[in-house]
Amino acid sequence: DPVIEFKNVTKKYSNYIALNNLNLSIQSGEIFGLLGPNGAGKTTIILMLLGLSECNSGFINICGSPVIHRSAKAKQLIGYLPDNVGFYKNLTGRENLELICKLNKIESGLIPHRVETLLQMVDMEKFANKKTSTYSRGMKQRLGIAQALVKFPKILILDEPTLGLDPSGVQELLTLVKTLNERHGITIIISSHNLEQVQKICHRVCILICGKIKAIGSLETLAAGL
Ligand code: ADP
Ligand code: ADP
Repeated sequence: DPVIEFKNVTKKYSNYIALNNLNLSIQSGEIFGLLGPNGAGKTTIILMLLGLSECNSGFINICGSPVIHRSAKAKQLIGYLPDNVGFYKNLTGRENLELICKLNKIESGLIPHRVETLLQMVDMEKFANKKTSTYSRGMKQRLGIAQALVKFPKILILDEPTLGLDPSGVQELLTLVKTLNERHGITIIISSHNLEQVQKICHRVCILICGKIKAIGSLETLAAGL
């Protein structure tokens, strides 16, 4: 059953059509690749899922309910790793997570255990007591994912997560994404302009160009259609 559904969604920025009558559904448990060049509309899709941007026409459902603009419900269902995740530099990774838990109003008695679980989920226990200013890009991405998961959402959205990582960093990140999907059942949307990089872990991808879906399906289906 679809956890995310776009029906005839059009989004304009003044006269510019960023999404053109888009139809898309993403199934529970999928790793879904949102692919396309810069300007294709990937970020626009993500902002609408987060309830941070409204469409001009059409509708968007998450887990069967319409997305409500600026509601807190989206944050409960969706974890989000922005492409420029930031931390409190003078805090350690663990302290950052504790703070994010507090900001998300997680009951204080639950926080220590929640933080350890999150550190384990992203394999960052070893670095938890180091300041985030000493972290590599890959470590920052992993802590950013832990941060996105504070409320144990059903859906995780990663915006260009491989950007700025070296090849081994890319591998580690993709392995982590796969583990989160397989072990924890999290539905994952991963945006990228690099199909080759993310294709290995995606169950399905869509190729977005100028706000329209040019192709959608598993890699085998796409390859057969080329
Ligand atoms: P992507 O994430 O695939 O790079 P975006 O969704 O950011 O694409 O952008 C899609 C198109 O919409 C681009 O042409 C971009 O310039 C335009 N756009 C995005 N945000 C705005 C905005 N706030 N105002 C005007 N145009 C925008
Ligand atoms: P507020 O709740 O104060 O209105 P915003 O909705 O603007 O704040 O979001 C604050 C920050 O949280 C932004 O940097 C945004 O990228 C991030 N964010 C928004 N939605 C989510 C989400 N579902 N999961 C994780 N982070 C989110």
